[in-house]
Order: sequence, then structure tokens, then C-alpha cells
Amino acid sequence: MSSTYLRDADNGYSSGRVYMRDQNPAFDQPEALITELEHGHETLLFASGMGAATAVFQGLRPGDHVLAPKVMYWSLRNWLMGFATSWGLDVELIDMTDPSAVQAAIRTGSTKLVWIETPANPLWTITDIAATAEIAHTAGALLAVDSTAATPVLTQPLDLGADLVMHSATKYLNGHSDLTAGSVTTRADNEHWQRVRAVRAQGGGTLGSMESWLLLRGMRTLYLRVRAASASAQRVAEHFHGHELIAEVLYPGLPSSAGHEAAKRQMSGGFGGMLSLRVAGGEQAAIAVAANTKLWKRATSLGGVESLIEHRASIEGVGSPVPPDLLRLSVGIENVDDLIADLEQALRA
Ligand SMILES: *Cc1c(COP(=O)(O)O)cnc(C)c1O
Repeated sequence: MSSTYLRDADNGYSSGRVYMRDQNPAFDQPEALITELEHGHETLLFASGMGAATAVFQGLRPGDHVLAPKVMYWSLRNWLMGFATSWGLDVELIDMTDPSAVQAAIRTGSTKLVWIETPANPLWTITDIAATAEIAHTAGALLAVDSTAATPVLTQPLDLGADLVMHSATKYLNGHSDLTAGSVTTRADNEHWQRVRAVRAQGGGTLGSMESWLLLRGMRTLYLRVRAASASAQRVAEHFHGHELIAEVLYPGLPSSAGHEAAKRQMSGGFGGMLSLRVAGGEQAAIAVAANTKLWKRATSLGGVESLIEHRASIEGVGSPVPPDLLRLSVGIENVDDLIADLEQALRA
């Protein structure tokens, strides 16, 4: 840990490092590991997922047209509509589950970026990465994927044609709910990537050394954790599908879900640890279920070893596409029978 690095007697910097903000050697191993897992060219770590995502948009120029999904991580949607538009980006929110809607909205030459999230928070809808990449590239746009919920364990967006893949490393990559971090990985070096680099170096939203090391340590168990969470989420989804007290289970691993076929094409080894339940009794019943769980903890966030349950609409507020009866579940690595039994007793209570 050092904020500064020795300069040579001849006034040079043969170590390649001048100052910690952008040249912290603690970034090297976690960045190299994420690059390898994503089959990319290079990765940049940020102080949070939001820091990583907003850097991708700040790498664009005022006037550029951007397509983003209606169903996406709510805080990024709020930033896009509340900040990026007033900064001069022309942001259009569309239905990303339908490639023909992307085709209809894209403007050849002026659309510079298509941003997708799959599976998408918190309805877990699926966007076809390969089909969307083709549409974006034909129009001259980059495709960026928020792959936080899929993780590199289940999906490699760059192999499917995406140009950039972003993670809230706060979630599965770290896996222990004890830091915030974000990453962006690029398939190639280009002018936009150099601007994203400059946003980090000059904007200064960089990760600390301790967090970089904790992230690396968390990633040592990434595969075990994600596989366990995915297998348990599948079990929970199947158990509550058709349940008398549940109106709908939202999970791409269910054959009846709208995104199942696309998910099967681009995910392997499972459909992730995130699902949502719509409680048949409505909003108050949903809030009561969350109040009555014992093993599931009432908290926001996702991707940790502990299972979390959240009434989502009351977090996202007005303008959110989330139904009021929806509970978002982040499945951890506890015994799955205990997780199901706890939800059962909370539903019956
Ligand atoms: C949490 C999250 C983010 C934001 O990441 P932070 O680390 O909280 O800044 C972005 N996208 C998705 C899908 C997330 O779950």
C-alpha cells in the first residue's frame, strides 16, 4: 500500500508507476483475473459498479444516442435519466427482450452505445446478446453488457459479440458482502476505451488497495459459490412455480419463462442465483412474508453467500416497472431445504 512510487535518479519512472490513483499495483491481479475469465483484452477496476457503468457512458460525447433497457438496475436508470441526459447524452429506454425493438430504435451513425443487462434486475428478463451485438455493430454502435447477475461463470458476453462487459464486483465476484467494487472489461483497445481509462484516471473513482485484495480473495471461490447459488435458485424456483400462495415465479431457468430459450443459448452451468416471487396476496402480503423470514435476511444487494430477500418496489420508488407484490431473492449457499422451508413458513404465517 503506497500512494506514490519512487522516481529514478535520471528523472524517469522505469517502474511504470507514478501515483496510486490510477496505477495501484493492487489492481493488477484482480484485473488480470477478470480479463482472463471474460476472455477480454483489458479490465479496469472502479470503486463501485456504478463507478464502472457511468465511466462507460462518460466515455461517450454529448449528443451521442444511447439505447438502454426499460428493465435494468434502477440506480443506473436514475443516473441515465437524471444526469446523463442533462449532460447531453440522448438516452432512449426500450424493451431489450425483443431484438426487433432494438432494430427499430437504433439510428445508424448516431447510436454509439447499446447498453443491456441480462438477466435484468429485478424481473430477470433475458436479452439475446449475440442478436443485439449484430444489430449494434451493423449500426456502428458498441454493445456493453451489465453481466453482474450472470457472472463469468455462466456467460461470456465478449465471446457472443459484446464489446464491453461490466460487473458490480460488489456482488458475485467478491461474494462476501463486505466491499463495493466494479469492473469493465473490453474486447479491444479503441478510442472509447482510452476515454474510459481517462475517466477513471482523472475522475478518480478508484478502488482502494485493501478492497482490491479482498476482491481477489473473494474470487477464489467464485465458481463454487455461483454454481451452488444457481442450483439452489433453480430448486427454489421450481418449488414455488405453481404454488397456491405465489402468483408468479420470475426465473430464466423455468422452461415456462419467456427468456428461457435465449438464456439456454447464452448461459451454461445454470441460470444464476437471482429470482423474484410475486406473492398472490399482493403488496401487503409480500411485505409480511419478508417480515416473517428467519434464515433469509431482509436487505438490499445480492450475490453474497447469505440469502437476501427484499420488497423491491418500495426501494425503487415511482417510475419503477416493478410490480408491488414482488419479492427479490438473492439465493446464497445455505442448505436449500432450509431456505425453502423458511419461505414456506413465512408465506403461511
Ligand atoms: C449492484 C448493481 C449495480 C451497481 O453496483 P454498485 O457496486 O452497487 O455500485 C449495477 N448493476 C447491477 C445489475 C447491480 O446489481
